[in-house]
Amino acid sequence: MTGGKPDASDRGQPNSGNRPPSVDRLARSIASSGLPHTLCVEVAREAIDSQQIDIVDQLARIRLRQLLTPVINATGTLLHTNLGRAPVSIRSQATFANVELDLATGARGSRQRTIGDIAATACGAEAALVVNNCASALMLVLAGLASGRGAAVSRGELVEIGGAFRVPDVMKQSGAQLVEVGTTNRTRLSDFASAFRVADIAVVLSVHQSNYKISGFTEQTSVTDLATLGVPVIADIGSGLLDSGCPWLDGPPPAWLAEEPAARQTLEAGADLVLFSGDKLLGGPQAGIIAGRRDLVEQCGRHPLARALRPGGLVIEALQQTLLAYLERDHEAIPFWKMANESQPSVRNRAQAVADSINRTNETGDPAHPMVKVVDTDSVPGGGTLPGRTIASAGIAVARDITEQLRNWDVPIVARVQDGRTICDLRTVDPSQEPDLIDALDAALHP
Ligand SMILES: *Cc1c(COP(=O)(O)O)cnc(C)c1O
Repeated sequence: MTGGKPDASDRGQPNSGNRPPSVDRLARSIASSGLPHTLCVEVAREAIDSQQIDIVDQLARIRLRQLLTPVINATGTLLHTNLGRAPVSIRSQATFANVELDLATGARGSRQRTIGDIAATACGAEAALVVNNCASALMLVLAGLASGRGAAVSRGELVEIGGAFRVPDVMKQSGAQLVEVGTTNRTRLSDFASAFRVADIAVVLSVHQSNYKISGFTEQTSVTDLATLGVPVIADIGSGLLDSGCPWLDGPPPAWLAEEPAARQTLEAGADLVLFSGDKLLGGPQAGIIAGRRDLVEQCGRHPLARALRPGGLVIEALQQTLLAYLERDHEAIPFWKMANESQPSVRNRAQAVADSINRTNETGDPAHPMVKVVDTDSVPGGGTLPGRTIASAGIAVARDITEQLRNWDVPIVARVQDGRTICDLRTVDPSQEPDLIDALDAALHP
């Protein structure tokens, strides 16, 4: 070896009875993996310790694939929790930004002011505050408005949203005392009124049952009724639908939205604050928005936790971009709404083009035995929202399970398996990603 990268012949042979190769030599042999040297050393050590020297390249690739990387979502689940919920774009160049600088005066500004104003305008609120996610929004509001006092919640709304986010646990951490009201299936205004007679209640909390439905003999107290109780009403609507009329779409609200609560209408109904996620139906980055009465928003903003839960500049920028698109009524500029709003025939056409392209390269060239078929599918909103709602869609079906090969493609592609077939739903695949999908399918079908 003269200077060049060491190759596999440098590693010594496994199981040959020779001494194991040095960690450093083995690490250098995987230098081309793309991992920093320090991580190559870790992989090399692991390979030696586990006697897997012969597959050290594979171990390096496994480690590389653990890094966060763009993936193609062919699952048909628009807000896929495992894939970071809503897709958002951020600039790729390093730059400073006026995160806390008032450009008009040159003085220190507030990172919350402008984004808060825009968020407030977007949902018809007096003021708004942005934090890291909706769970932190709930925690901050309860800490800011009800610490050491009671927060009344219907027993039917003490929900677990997923990822072990349980409303009662968040409430405990906030220092507010949970006052359970009514029963699992029925909670009336009079139940709340009775709770007020026995406990010191600072706020009433209404939590949207995002991911499940209680049906049958049920009764929920409306926000309008709760607003008559004389304390602030906090509505955790979760999903971040801004306006039930969806004025950013060209047509009427889609049927799959059904009775999903919206920020604007919940405030109009009498909520003093609404809380929602940035990365569910809002279609922005992970964030939590607290919007409503200015005095309450400011009270939350003054709580020490507000500093701990504040968003970074990248999040503010991505959220600003999303909210400005709403104000422009430009759903095409919000990837979630662009995906959600595409007509089924349009998705089907794209699926057909992908299928044609793959079947053309079919070696047998037998039109009676296409390698892939176009199928109608049901996309789902996902993200723990709108259980049971589907969006008619279309995709590609392959007769066997090739999801592992697709996942291992350079740009990982996540698809789903249904009755032993691989289904790639095109609704969640951007047209710009189709060439990659075609290449990956080709490679998997023509090994
Ligand atoms: C999803 C959801 C949350 C949690 O939101 P995150 O932004 O994931 O923290 C809280 N409340 C409701 C009702 C939700 O649907």
